[in-house]
Amino acid sequence: MPAHDLIVIGAGPGGYVAAIRAAQLGANVAIIEKESALGGTCLRVGCIPSKALLESSERYHAARHELAAHGVKVQNVQLDLATMLKRKDEIVRGLTDGVAMLMQKNKITRYAGHGRISGPGQVTVEARETAPQTLEGRYILIATGSKSAPLKGVEVDGDRIGTSTEALSFAQVPEHLVVIGAGYIGLEMGSIWRRLGANVTVLEYLPRILPGMDAEFAGLAQKIFEKQGIAFKLGARVTSARVEPAKGKNKQPICVVEYEGGESIRCDRVLLSVGRLPNTDGLGLDAVGVQLDERGRIKINEHFATTAPSIYAIGDVIRGPMLAHKAEEEGIAAVEYLFTGYCHVNYDAIPGIVYTEPEIAAVGKTEEELTQAGVAYRKGVFHFRGNGRARAIGHTDGRVKILADAKTDRVLGAHILGPRAGDMIAEAAVAIEFGASAEDIARSSHAHPTLAECMKEAALAVDQRAIHA
Ligand code: NAD
Repeated sequence: MPAHDLIVIGAGPGGYVAAIRAAQLGANVAIIEKESALGGTCLRVGCIPSKALLESSERYHAARHELAAHGVKVQNVQLDLATMLKRKDEIVRGLTDGVAMLMQKNKITRYAGHGRISGPGQVTVEARETAPQTLEGRYILIATGSKSAPLKGVEVDGDRIGTSTEALSFAQVPEHLVVIGAGYIGLEMGSIWRRLGANVTVLEYLPRILPGMDAEFAGLAQKIFEKQGIAFKLGARVTSARVEPAKGKNKQPICVVEYEGGESIRCDRVLLSVGRLPNTDGLGLDAVGVQLDERGRIKINEHFATTAPSIYAIGDVIRGPMLAHKAEEEGIAAVEYLFTGYCHVNYDAIPGIVYTEPEIAAVGKTEEELTQAGVAYRKGVFHFRGNGRARAIGHTDGRVKILADAKTDRVLGAHILGPRAGDMIAEAAVAIEFGASAEDIARSSHAHPTLAECMKEAALAVDQRAIHA
């Protein structure tokens, strides 16, 4: 029986990064993946393909609506969706092949198939073409990620009514796409297809979009998205979605979506994006005593240890936001704990980003969270329209908001709605990680002319002394 120091189940960003770190620390590591490509949801059907399509659709939109203002005339702009989708697939292939190379380089043994914990310190790999193989491991790390959550009454057929996986590969631009859920996925995918010409209606159960993000910025973002032509229906709990078969010659099937508080909508495509559920099925957890919490997530302690000896879990299968970079931090922390005895993840310094245009990024606490916790804070806000670079690139919508402790000036949260917000938020994450004050950011030189100057100005604004406001 092949024996390893560590067996990682799942080769997404959490699992493969943990495997590499464990190998760096001298461990003999195995990784089990049931898909033919490594990289998990993030690389195959999530973060990466969606970012490729967001970029391409932005270029298309710019060519049609923005370049003329730059004095660049382009006529007869046409969409070649097949090429756009092929480019996306090639980017995915390049990256998933890259992960396979990283596994080889780090001498990590790859097993293809479904991993099931078959006893203490044992994992059985089951594949369609080959006989089951049982491995022995000193430690087992579960990094199996998550899957789209179903919604009662919504009949996902994997075609007309689908999840983000289908929405990343529509062969034609939908005439009318109805998105269920105004979260990360709904807004990113809705933006892509809106830019490519679809009518997009987003149905959201809550009275606001992007729950969990800064409420003021979510409201501002909604107004910008509405200007882009996305229609929102808030307080709209979807109760059913079904496909009516095509009637008559050359007719397409029609989707009918029903929700509380309004008339049913007929459309040609539906995207279900109401959250994700941890992937815990078929792992043999019961038999070895790995317990789940009330929301079906694997219970862990501060060292990512499950309730069963020598079995650890990270990423989307445990508590916390379902984000690739959160899983990576946890994967590294878990194996560092196993092989060095120390680990730490600062959950206050994990950013969240919605890659719409403009992007929305946040790290640390929101105003609502600070108010609820009774923490006195000062707020510094700076608008992108006061920034030279934002004007030069022609993206002036949005603002930066920094929240600092009223007494100590320590940065507690940062929120950015604007161009390249996702890149800019890294500075605030580092500031929080280092325990920086708003004054520290304000006193750091930020190159001119850059969008990053908005961070400095917002930090100055905490003390009412922004220069360009
Ligand atoms: P989400 O949790 O972000 O949003 C789901 C939305 O659906 C919520 O606003 C919720 O109120 C709404 N909803 C729930 N039931 C509803 C109903 N019956 N009718 C109408 N609306 C309803 O979930 P998501 O967008 O599916 O994303 C899933 C996960 O993937 C998230 O945890 C997210 O962190 C992750 N993700 C992250 C990124 C990123 O980092 N950019 C991108 C995509 C996905």
